[in-house]
Amino acid sequence: MQATNKLMLAMAAALAVSGPAAAHKDSPTPEFKCSSCKEWNHPQKPFKIYGNTWYVGTRELSALLVTSPKGHILLDGALPQSAAIIEKNIKSLGFKMKDVKFILNSHAHFDHAGGIAALQKSSGAMVATSAHGAQVLRDGVIGKDDPQYDPAQDPRIPKIAMVTAVGEGEVVNAGTVAVTAHMTPGHTPGGTSWSWTSCEKGRCLDIVYADSLTAVSTDNFKFTGAYADTLRATIAKVAALKCDIVVSTHPGFTGIADKAASTTASNNTFIDPNGCREYAAGADRRLDARLATEQQPAAAGLPGG
Ligand SMILES: [Zn+2]
Repeated sequence: MQATNKLMLAMAAALAVSGPAAAHKDSPTPEFKCSSCKEWNHPQKPFKIYGNTWYVGTRELSALLVTSPKGHILLDGALPQSAAIIEKNIKSLGFKMKDVKFILNSHAHFDHAGGIAALQKSSGAMVATSAHGAQVLRDGVIGKDDPQYDPAQDPRIPKIAMVTAVGEGEVVNAGTVAVTAHMTPGHTPGGTSWSWTSCEKGRCLDIVYADSLTAVSTDNFKFTGAYADTLRATIAKVAALKCDIVVSTHPGFTGIADKAASTTASNNTFIDPNGCREYAAGADRRLDARLATEQQPAAAGLPGG
């Protein structure tokens, strides 16, 4: 459907500049506090999704590890305080941090990118995401173009020194793992979804790590107009991806806990060819509801929106 522009990100070059000593040296990872952070960060035992794809995140914030004998790719780092949990999960599966060659980010918010700096430090991995997302990770703060921009907020994302930008259809390689970037702006301007193939007993399936598709913002922001159009197009794009298994950044949106509980040796319930379409349909409904609230006149006495 779309031209695939394959970019071989040269591992040798990446590693030459991103060893642990070169990774930026922030002091111990600060704990980020938010109303849901404690619940989100509850430790979760890692589990296999399919083939060489593993869930290594916390209970309510996804992180996936895609492995190969010559290097792994980690997707997302959750909260700053999640990094230790993710690292422990990776090691408990028998994998080594130094074999993580790339860390990919879905979007540059504190709950998905917060742990990446610490994970880069312990692995020496290169971080990759969209050009817009890469700049936010380098700055450590989201910009005015982000629906959740709040001028009063502290810098929320530990800054990441070594970040490379990828574009639509570009492929990030580590060993035999090849992960394709799909630009999915809307929840943030730089949102990125990722896909790859994992095989088990000769059966190869398309796996999608789908970015957040929710219209969440600070109080005075309105999605109505260009932002809604952008998010709507992204939702349609996610629905159309080749997708046998979908995992969302917040695992609850794609029922990951239920699927983990119901999967057996002979019946992998993560496999669902409708998964991406259903995730997208839910996002469409939530966007409709959000836009409807934006059409309502502001209640008297409340600050104008
Ligand atoms: Zn977000």
